[in-house]
Amino acid sequence: MDSRDVEADLSKVLITEAEIHAKIAELARRIEADYAGQDLLLVGVLKGAVMVMADLARELHLPVSMDWMAVSSYGNSTQSSGVVRILKDLDSELEGRTVLIVEDIIDSGLTLSWLLANLRSRGPASVEVCALLRKPDAATIQLDVRYVGFDIPNEFVVGYGLDYAEKYRNLKDIGVLAPHMYS
Ligand code: 5GP
Ligand code: MG
Ligand code: MG
Repeated sequence: MDSRDVEADLSKVLITEAEIHAKIAELARRIEADYAGQDLLLVGVLKGAVMVMADLARELHLPVSMDWMAVSSYGNSTQSSGVVRILKDLDSELEGRTVLIVEDIIDSGLTLSWLLANLRSRGPASVEVCALLRKPDAATIQLDVRYVGFDIPNEFVVGYGLDYAEKYRNLKDIGVLAPHMYS
């Protein structure tokens, strides 16, 4: 796809590539301080968290393992269905592990609250969450998210792993999809 076509689909850039990378470095310093001397298992939630995971993992000066889970709550719509299905489970056992869930975005918080309960039932030593983005609605559900990159307005965003109908994940910036693209 021609990159000019993609840019025309956005109404604005919300967070630039440079701002994302500065924030990820900042989060990595906090995570390093909190987990010094520990072996951390990063659990990335496919597919949206691929870019955050790749950049955060390389920024961390800690021994980390990476594993992946795929869950579905959205399909191709822009509204949360509230229904969570496991499409791909972890390869690792969580018994006694120190786990950090790596997420792209928390919107309603439904996916994450389900995921936290699911992973905590597997006997890990601890489970915390690092999410690059959080929307205001996430505040309506009781969630303990230790690391949050940016609180953003209630708009549908794409780029840096985030898709609309599987497109735009490869954009380096995070932007707001123009309403005419999905209405
Ligand atoms: P939640 O369950 O917190 O409402 O949303 C979970 C998932 O919905 C996210 O991991 C993400 O895949 C998707 N999602 C929520 N808000 C947005 C958004 O603004 N843009 C995109 N592309 N996906 C979103
Ligand atoms: Mg996600
Ligand atoms: Mg999606």
